[in-house]
Amino acid sequence: MKDHVEFYNGYKMPILGLGTWSARPEEMKIAINEALKVGYRHFDTAFTYMNEESIGEVLAEWISQGRIKREELFIVTKLPMIGNRSSDVDIFLKESLKRLKLSYVDLYLIHAPTGLKRDMKDINNVFPEQENGEMDWDMDTNLPTLWQAMEQQVDLGLAKNIGLSNFNESQIRKIMNDCRIQPANNQVEIHAYFLQTELRDVCKEFGITVCAYSPLGSPGRQVLFEERGIENGFIPDILQNPVVSELAKKHEKTPAQILLRYLAQLQVVVIPKSTNPKRIAENFKIFDFELSPEDISDLNSLDQGQKGRTFDWTFFKGAQKHPEYPF
Ligand code: NAP
Repeated sequence: MKDHVEFYNGYKMPILGLGTWSARPEEMKIAINEALKVGYRHFDTAFTYMNEESIGEVLAEWISQGRIKREELFIVTKLPMIGNRSSDVDIFLKESLKRLKLSYVDLYLIHAPTGLKRDMKDINNVFPEQENGEMDWDMDTNLPTLWQAMEQQVDLGLAKNIGLSNFNESQIRKIMNDCRIQPANNQVEIHAYFLQTELRDVCKEFGITVCAYSPLGSPGRQVLFEERGIENGFIPDILQNPVVSELAKKHEKTPAQILLRYLAQLQVVVIPKSTNPKRIAENFKIFDFELSPEDISDLNSLDQGQKGRTFDWTFFKGAQKHPEYPF
């Protein structure tokens, strides 16, 4: 198995990266340091996660101390939903680059096809609400013109590649019909309970690589959402699934390593999030064993199709009313 996937233009994306959503700035710094030490070179970040600054500080330290070269890193960040209009793309990318202390990102993604209105007084108000408690959706999101502004970021050298996140088949087709520079990657929820086979086939048809978010099934989210009072229903713990535990025993690996290796063998990029040094190291050790075709077929049987989706964004109140609501 290769340790990377290749974009349509030959650019290489490491098949394993560190997720950074929900990590507080201080714990993020420790996590990035640990991850760099054990060999991670790919970091999945986003304006919305509000921790780009701490990530940037650690990267800058490593680069200035000569411990790593910029070209060895693969950095992803994402245009927040409040920036989903052509006039805002360069504002948000430049702000992300400032926070990350970088002159370019390797991949810039549209975080989601649904736009939100922007609070002109506060760029950090990433989830503006209306008085009725619903999010302040911008119903005029225009994906083709938004994509043109993404393409300009490549022209300017601020993003080496551009891509999508949470885009469905018809939205991908809309972009592909109209683009000058094609999307290199689509980042969507994928794990053993939700394999997204049809969407992955569409991406394959267009030479778009796929990145799995929540590759472990986002086990920490139940507690996180409860703490924050966000309703999301029950999130199953795939790490406890007996098929996964049996394979872990067989290969003398952990359930997380089985789930990550499984997706990587399907040529899906994985970005498990952890701020725990032991688990950061554990998640990186997936290159020294191989799942057999029978193991893969056992894991394939866990797929629940749409029922396996855990992120349908209904926790963003009013999301379903947006014309580009993707799910
Ligand atoms: P995930 O990576 O599937 O799971 C993360 C959770 O699993 C954390 O609670 C982590 O806790 C725990 N964990 C990590 N390694 C473990 C291990 N070896 N054994 C047991 N538990 C382990 O879920 P995610 O954070 O939702 O998704 C990953 C990344 O995808 C995000 O961080 C973000 O970068 C990206 N993402 C993108 C979108 C999007 O809309 N594009 C949406 C969601 C996520 P500890 O930290 O305590 O280890």
